[in-house]
Amino acid sequence: MTMTQSVPPVVAGPEGVRRLFAADGPHLGSHLAAFGPAPRSVDTPVLLAELERSGLAGRGGAGFPTWRKLAATESAAHDPARRLRRRAVVIANGAEGEPLSRKDETLLRAAPHLILDGLLLVAASIGTKDAVLYAPSTSLAAVARAVDERQDARGVRLVEAPETFLSGEATAVVNAVGGGPAIPRDHVRRMAESGLGGRPTLVQNVETLAHIALIVRFGAAWFRSQGTDDEAGTRLVSVSGDVATPQVFEVPGGASVGSALAAAGAPPRSLRAVLVGGYHGAWLPAERLDTALSVEGLAPFGAAPGAGILMALGSDRCGLEASAEIATYLASQSARQCGPCANGLPRLADVLTRLAAGDRSTWLPGEVRRLAALVAGRGSCHHPDGTARLVLSSLTVFSSDVQAHLAGRCEAHPGRRIGSGR
Ligand code: SF4
Repeated sequence: MTMTQSVPPVVAGPEGVRRLFAADGPHLGSHLAAFGPAPRSVDTPVLLAELERSGLAGRGGAGFPTWRKLAATESAAHDPARRLRRRAVVIANGAEGEPLSRKDETLLRAAPHLILDGLLLVAASIGTKDAVLYAPSTSLAAVARAVDERQDARGVRLVEAPETFLSGEATAVVNAVGGGPAIPRDHVRRMAESGLGGRPTLVQNVETLAHIALIVRFGAAWFRSQGTDDEAGTRLVSVSGDVATPQVFEVPGGASVGSALAAAGAPPRSLRAVLVGGYHGAWLPAERLDTALSVEGLAPFGAAPGAGILMALGSDRCGLEASAEIATYLASQSARQCGPCANGLPRLADVLTRLAAGDRSTWLPGEVRRLAALVAGRGSCHHPDGTARLVLSSLTVFSSDVQAHLAGRCEAHPGRRIGSGR
């Protein structure tokens, strides 16, 4: 019996690691056959306690404890000191932005009803009917079909997200849902207290909502029956790059990076490194593929599980060149509202590109470090921090190649001279 039901669930929780994709299709019939109906409402304190017991952390990137975010919004919406109850809004965020991430798009197409269940349950638990699903147009069609299949989701507003890197950043989401451009704004005011139209706002990743829908049905103990104590449950990973079959997998929490890559057909010996966490992430050297996809395991590399993004870099590819291409892309993706993005990121990308291309000026690595330190922590959002993390990681993980480039060679192309001495 679960926390919310006075009778046992109609069906048992999925066994094994395939949970979010347990239904044999995206339609309501398949969804109900796999998971049974969701409870119509959930007592908020009970839901918060169960989410805390489950250990579910957000799957959008920041990894914040889910119950805490929900509790903050709920208490802002019902704060007696403000006298008036302020109608909260819940936004399901399916905008990945990140070019290497496919998990939310895949989930929205394969299991839209699970996401809608989570969205409606969370909205009900904080006493609002104001629910929004924000995602790129390529995913919204599947959601629209799912909404048509059920009465209870008719009030969910669907909002199209642009395909830009920062469109999924929480404040950009609120801007876009409010009718403005999908660009971040400053974080001075807490979203839980003053988000969309100044109202308490909860922006929750769509995978997180799908997990909530399962925890509400089958309980925290069931959720914890996969994963580890610190990385409970399952998580989706998007595997791409130099692998046989780029795709999205559901893996147990704390699985090794190598096991996720092996599932996608990456022979570990042919890799140079793996980018963990996407363009705002960090490199993991190929010798450390046994590292757990966990906060603790990845911390020494400056990485985190984040949104579950893994990009394999083959041994015949240059890590500095790949990093420079990413840094150049990231520098192009801000609205240049803040100094670090307007001035720092283009310069940072340019210096790293010169190093990658074989410019032998010995001051280049030091200049990359100086610029990275200059931009980090100085933007209104985390875009400069994430970019600085990526470039600093490239200098660390590819340190021997930095020396090779300064000597006119590249480890990815032995025997070939690169660049020119200056
Ligand atoms: S730090 Fe950069 S991306 Fe973030 S709000 Fe400022 S200009 Fe935009």
